[in-house]
Amino acid sequence: MNKLPISEINKLKKAIENANSIVLTGHQNPDADCIGSNLGFYHFLAQSKENIKIIMPNRFPENLKWMRGADKILVFEKDTENCQQIIEKADLMFSLDYNSFHRVGKMQESLEKATCTKVIIDHHPQPSNEFDIAFSDTSVSSASELVFAVMMELSEKQSIPTASAESILAGIIADTGCFAFNSSTPETYLAVANLLEQQVDKDYIKGKLFDTYSINRTRLMGYLLSEKMVVLPEYRTAYIILTNEEKEKFGYQIGDSEGFVNLPHSIENIIFSVFIMEHEGFVKMSLRSKGSFDVNMLSRKYFNGGGHRNAAGGKEFDLSVDETAQKLINLLPIYKEELLKS
Ligand code: 5GP
Ligand code: MN
Repeated sequence: MNKLPISEINKLKKAIENANSIVLTGHQNPDADCIGSNLGFYHFLAQSKENIKIIMPNRFPENLKWMRGADKILVFEKDTENCQQIIEKADLMFSLDYNSFHRVGKMQESLEKATCTKVIIDHHPQPSNEFDIAFSDTSVSSASELVFAVMMELSEKQSIPTASAESILAGIIADTGCFAFNSSTPETYLAVANLLEQQVDKDYIKGKLFDTYSINRTRLMGYLLSEKMVVLPEYRTAYIILTNEEKEKFGYQIGDSEGFVNLPHSIENIIFSVFIMEHEGFVKMSLRSKGSFDVNMLSRKYFNGGGHRNAAGGKEFDLSVDETAQKLINLLPIYKEELLKS
């Protein structure tokens, strides 16, 4: 982790002190790191401030609803007018786990228009310049880890509430896939050690995040691996397509496909995997790589998306799932050298 800029910490301290209404926000299709960093910061701020709201652009998966305070989260798509007013009236706003207002779906215009002080705490590359106070570091495991570091500075290393520690640890565990990726620096484990001292139960969190799926979801995973995974060893690549028809057949619920994109990575020599999912009106892609092969670049350049070097997302609006797969296949020869050396 890079050292937190002290000037930004000082500005943030003042901004929090002076704020009468604070709004915390996350990205479209919020995941555990997004919800964890928001709730982690919420419980911390709530010790000294009133009138704090959390707004997500759209719904979040069922397996995150156990987090303390999750019932307080407002959803912009469901409660638009109320959320617009909260954003308009806020005098301090936080963008957690995303790097640009392009990432907040229908909430974008409201956030852009807001005249309050805007703060980013995030770990995605290429943050936009829409923020007044910025903590942006791609070397951390997760936005949650960075929020924790910011809280430690703000509180002058006082302990944080258990509910806060629990949400932060959930974000770290989820974004690292249980410490499988983005988790090779001592700082991550120092943060985890510190969080465990706040009486949080790691096994409970792991169970809530990863062991609460439906039978259908597990069967869908088996089906995709056995019937749908396409492996292209010459490009060290694998991809999986999930159609609307298959989603219906397996009673697909939002969040069910979480982690599927990583499955081909356990095959020897596979370093690039893509999960292609049909939605109403568009195709969503998840891209993952190992080593130097940059899926953030690939997604930005070809698939209307972005993310991190080893984990990115993208969308196609005018192609079918099969055409999207074909587009991907056509790109592989161009990147063969990079795929082989990654
Ligand atoms: P996922 O595959 O889980 O949807 O996304 C992987 C990573 O890429 C996450 O860090 C997510 O924030 C980022 N990401 C997903 N979709 C998009 C997108 O459309 N644009 C950008 N810039 N990042 C994305
Ligand atoms: Mn994240």
